[in-house]
Amino acid sequence: MVIGPAGEHLVRNASITTSNDNVMAKSGFGAVWGSKNLKAITCHGTGVVIAADIDKVFQLRMTMGSPYMRPSPVREQDRQGLPGNDAKGHWVRGNVACSHGCNQHCNCLMMDTDSYFTDDKINHVEKCVSIFAYGFATDVPNSIGANWMTHQNHVLPCKMLSGEPPVPDPTDPYFEEMTAPIMPDRLDFWKPDFEKGNLINELCNEYGMDKWDVTIWLLPWLSMGQKEGVFDDIDFGMEIDVESSDFVAYMLDQIVYRKGYYGNLLAEGMARAIRTLGKEKFGDTIYHGRRSGVLPGNPSLDLPISLETAWGHSFHWQGRGYEATITKPTWLASTIELMTSSRDMQTVEHHHDTYENYLKIKDDPYNSQTLVDSIIMNENKGEMKDSVTCCEWQSPDLWWTSMEAEMYEAATGYPMSEEELNESAVRSKLLYRAILIRNFGRDRKMEVEAVWPGICIPDPWGETADWDGFNHLVDMYYETRGWDKKTAWPYRDTWEKYGLKDVADEMEKLGKLPG
Ligand code: SF4
Repeated sequence: MVIGPAGEHLVRNASITTSNDNVMAKSGFGAVWGSKNLKAITCHGTGVVIAADIDKVFQLRMTMGSPYMRPSPVREQDRQGLPGNDAKGHWVRGNVACSHGCNQHCNCLMMDTDSYFTDDKINHVEKCVSIFAYGFATDVPNSIGANWMTHQNHVLPCKMLSGEPPVPDPTDPYFEEMTAPIMPDRLDFWKPDFEKGNLINELCNEYGMDKWDVTIWLLPWLSMGQKEGVFDDIDFGMEIDVESSDFVAYMLDQIVYRKGYYGNLLAEGMARAIRTLGKEKFGDTIYHGRRSGVLPGNPSLDLPISLETAWGHSFHWQGRGYEATITKPTWLASTIELMTSSRDMQTVEHHHDTYENYLKIKDDPYNSQTLVDSIIMNENKGEMKDSVTCCEWQSPDLWWTSMEAEMYEAATGYPMSEEELNESAVRSKLLYRAILIRNFGRDRKMEVEAVWPGICIPDPWGETADWDGFNHLVDMYYETRGWDKKTAWPYRDTWEKYGLKDVADEMEKLGKLPG
């Protein structure tokens, strides 16, 4: 595991890269290593780590996510990017898994691309966000079925990315409506450009910084801000032009090596930099280049130039900004999942539930106990995914709810029931809340106010949240969790129900135990 120059210079979104091409990028752990002068960790094992029940592991491998068990051929390509954003350029495509153990291969391996640093050809893995480096004229197309599935058509994302597009299923009464395309907003952040796309991805890989913050927040901010004249009195040392590879390379070099006032400022992360510059102008100024992809006539919709949502992160599947193509029930769910956390929860809680539940929720989401239960199920599964380390896209399997418990048992040999694992997940969430309350004064006011501004920005249908409705849904969520509605602090019964009497006692001493 190693950090790059970004980590060495304590850049807030510095990442840690592992030797099997995985990267821990969110939340700047590369800077934590840099602050300890820790450049790399390497280990050589002589022992063997083996699963307790190999036959069970093989059986899981053949069944989890009903895998697309076909070879992924290497193919010559001459374009890269999503529809409306795709750029001309030659490369060779392969499909790879995140880790050798996985039975799918969702990641696109881009081979034989040019390098900024050497004359050699290089390979890099493209997944999700990095495809927008190649072009960001529109947001991502989507369908309701990506979050709300039927038994006949579940885990669509894995299969689609591994090479198996959804086939119309006559037995699925909802197939048409759940796979109907939701057209993306037009954003015009930058035009398709293959070389620049490779450059952005390679620089983030080599500098060791979070591609997300660069591709989804920094460069769109510079693009929108420049178009709105916000930077007219600012001299970055080079004319702002996100269409230019030279400007992008210059800007990242400034930030990674903390060069000049603005390089050093932006190395502190987008949220801090924008507040230092002045949030009203450099964050909340409205960009006038957003057009709805779903409303007739594609009317203009407001969008602040900073895609900031809560806790210092940028929008991610929350109905505005990036990956906005989800309907209100889904963005209310992802908003509450973000509200009770302190990081971007869509790294481990892409909202998944049944299409039948969606039909129950969609007409009155603010009063929907089904939506509250759906959120809590996804949060608990999120805790499991972080603990049992199963894949964000394979879990939860809505028709195989004991899957994670079976994985745990097969790997460790320790008996684990679905109920027990779910209880552990609730306990993990509670301990996390205890730390947020004790160390950061977390309460209802703080977390509702953190997420509220984001959902006041129109979604692709022009919808925004209703204050009373949202707070009613939040009330129902806290009640179902056994937390006090006024403070969002768990009751003593809740702590004790999950074996956390010691935490309840400490909360009482701190005056953080509701009556
Ligand atoms: S995203 Fe999940 S299912 Fe896909 S390759 Fe990675 S680990 Fe496997």
